[in-house]
Formats: sequence, C-alpha cells, structure tokens
Amino acid sequence: MRIDPELADELVATVRAFVAKDVLPVASELEHTDEYPTDLVEQMRALGLFGATIPVEHGGLGLDVATYARVVEELAVGWMSLTGILNTHMIAATLITQHGTPEQQKRWLPSMAAGDVRGALSLSEPDAGSDTKALRCKATPDGDEYVIDGTKMWVTNGERSGIVALAARTPEGVTCFMVEKRPGTRSGGISVSRTIGKLGYKGVETVEMTYTDHRVPADAVLGGPVNLGRGLRLILGALELGRVNIAARALGVARAAFEASLRYAQQRHTFGVPIAKHQAIQFKLADMATKLEAARLLTASAAAKLDAGERADVEAGMAKLFASETAFELATEAMRIHGGYGYTTELPIERYYRDAPLMIIGEGTNEIQRLVIARGLLERHPL
Ligand SMILES: Cc1cc2nc3c(=O)[nH]c(=O)nc-3n(C[C@H](O)[C@H](O)[C@H](O)COP(=O)(O)OP(=O)(O)OC[C@H]3O[C@@H](n4cnc5c(N)ncnc54)[C@H](O)[C@@H]3O)c2cc1C
Repeated sequence: MRIDPELADELVATVRAFVAKDVLPVASELEHTDEYPTDLVEQMRALGLFGATIPVEHGGLGLDVATYARVVEELAVGWMSLTGILNTHMIAATLITQHGTPEQQKRWLPSMAAGDVRGALSLSEPDAGSDTKALRCKATPDGDEYVIDGTKMWVTNGERSGIVALAARTPEGVTCFMVEKRPGTRSGGISVSRTIGKLGYKGVETVEMTYTDHRVPADAVLGGPVNLGRGLRLILGALELGRVNIAARALGVARAAFEASLRYAQQRHTFGVPIAKHQAIQFKLADMATKLEAARLLTASAAAKLDAGERADVEAGMAKLFASETAFELATEAMRIHGGYGYTTELPIERYYRDAPLMIIGEGTNEIQRLVIARGLLERHPL
C-alpha cells in the first residue's frame, strides 16, 4: 500500500517544521534533565502520529511504511527519544492490525490511534534478549483466564503504556498477549520494579516489569486461540517494522551529525582558512555524506518491501545494520570535526554520540541482524 506522494511530502514537511520550531529548542535541556517531553508528546498526538500506520478505518493516518520512516527520520533529527515513544506503540498497533481479531481491533486501535492508549512491547527478559528461546515469563491457563508470572526487562514506554504486547510461555509455546493495564507503576499484579538508567535515549522510560499472579482474560491472546504458541513468529514479523523505525531514527541522528559538521566545517577557521578547506576534513565530509545516502536508500528499500506486502527480513536487517553503524560512525566523526566543542554539553554532538549506540543494540543487535540476513539469504537461494 502506498499513500499519495503529495500528502506524504506535506506530512513530512509538517513534522520537519514541528521539529525546527518546537523540538530543537528544548531537546538538549529535556535530555540532560531526563525529563519526559509531555508537551511534545501532546503535539505529536495532535499531529496524529500515534496513529501513523494504523489504518484509516480504525482512526489512524494509514501511512505506508515509507512515509512513516521519513517521519521517524525527521523526529530523530530533532531528538531520537521521540521516535522511541512511537516505536513500540506502533509495533503493538501493527500486531493488532495484522493479527488481532475484529473485536480486538475495534477495542484497541481507535484509542491507540488517538494516542489516548499507548502501547509497549515486552519481549526481552533479564536473561533472554537475543536468545528468545530462553524466555521464562509464563501464562498459566486457569478457567477462562491466564495467570501471568515473570520478569520482563527493557520495556520502553512500560510505565506510561495502557496496553502491552507481551510474550509469555503457554503450554503450546510462546504466545503473544495484549495485556491491558493502567499507566503508572502498579496495575493489578504488574509492577514497574525498576527504571533503568541509560547512557542516552533519555526522557523516555525503559523499565523492568514484574508480573505476579497477574490475571488476564483468555481473549487477551492476540488473534484468539488459533495463535496460541505462535507469539514469537508474530512478534518477530512485527519487528520488521521496528527495524525500519530503528534504521530511520539512525538516519535522523546521522543526518543531524552530518548537517552540523557541514556547517561547522565552514564556520571554524584554523591556520587562516575554514577547516572545510583542509583535505582531511573534506574526506570526512565526503565519506559521511556517502554513507548517509546509502543508509537512506537501504531504509527506503526495506520500507518499499514492507509496503508491497513482501517479507522484508533481509532488507529490514540490512537497513537497520547499515544505518545504525552509520549513525555511530557519523556521530564520532562529527565529534572529531567539532574538536573540543563537540565534547561539551553546549552542542548536541555529544547527545548524538550517546544516542547512536542504542540503534546498534535495540531491536536485535547487529550481530543478530547479520544472522537474520544470512539466514534469509540462504532460504531465498537454496542450491
Ligand atoms: C534502551 C533499550 C530499550 C529497549 N527496549 C526494549 C523494548 O521496548 N522491548 C523489548 O522487548 N526489548 C527492548 N530492549 C531489549 C533489546 O532488544 C535487547 O537488549 C537486545 O535484543 C539484546 O539483548 P541483550 O541485551 O540481552 O544482549 P545479549 O543477547 O545478552 O547479547 C550480548 C552480546 O552477545 C551477542 N550475541 C548473542 N547471541 C549471539 C549469537 N547467537 N551470535 C553472535 N552474537 C551473539 C549480542 O550481539 C551482544 O553483542 C531494549 C534495549 C535497550 C538497551
């Protein structure tokens, strides 16, 4: 599915203007104080961004993935954390859109699209990140309910969410539950047991959540009984959208680092000339721009595959892998180009430098991306 290119350009321009006017002036301060950006989130809500990829018939904007990726890039140019507030919400909404029963779609999607109910994804555990086979959180059937017990780690948006896509073991295997909760640190048997301090990606909460004898109705199983034991497959499929989000946000951070460097290299003089006149700096700018463009093309290519309704494990993996390494590299190069000033908290370069590594780790580490890419290639090209 593709949306009208003019509408897409208009929305991207609106988000870019929002970032320039409202995000850039406050991003560094909010980031350093690790403050949740309530006002910015309200504006994102007013722009309809919480309904970005939710179909129009459920109250969303019905964006194609290509446009969603462009929106995410623009937000990340301003402040990467804003894209994290959207990401797991959109993954949860995608799971419901693609696999939910009609009742589940009617029940959750409109309020998620409006941003009234916010979503989170809870796959990882303290001892199970890459190794999803090691998941231990369990959901025990009890009459027409399930009783959930276990500890989940790294739940972005965990505290503020009203619905969590949760991976838990049932007798059939790993099942995806859509767990309703009240926003806050406690709801029924769910508690936020720890807020995790982070190098960057501040302002958005990432928490540990503990489930103790927490009861959910049987109809919390995503898509109903037919999906018992199929949870991992469903979640890993939705992570393809998540990986495009990570690629796009890496692109945003890389672009911000590059654009700042391009400006600074022409402003800063050494030895009587702007540093942009030194070939060593020119080479850096050339390499940065080339990698940025390659990352953009890979991200667009992965988004196009998803929009065509095709499997995009290889493409989303490649985009996430390359764009995140590019963001990491460009943030470092930007710091070199800015010299001592890049190391200060007076410029956003140090923020890019702290935000970039998350994209290498989140949504499956880059080592795991290489495994996903290789497995997909081998499946597609058997002897
Ligand atoms: C800030 C933040 C937010 C997050 N938000 C969420 C969220 O909202 N929801 C959620 O479910 N998860 C979330 N995560 C979890 C994230 O997806 C995991 O951290 C990630 O998948 C890696 O898992 P791990 O940290 O347990 O590392 P491990 O799996 O322990 O990996 C450690 C190292 O070993 C490598 N490794 C592991 N297995 C292999 C292998 N087979 N071959 C080669 N190398 C391997 C890894 O690449 C890595 O270098 C978040 C993480 C962070 C840091």
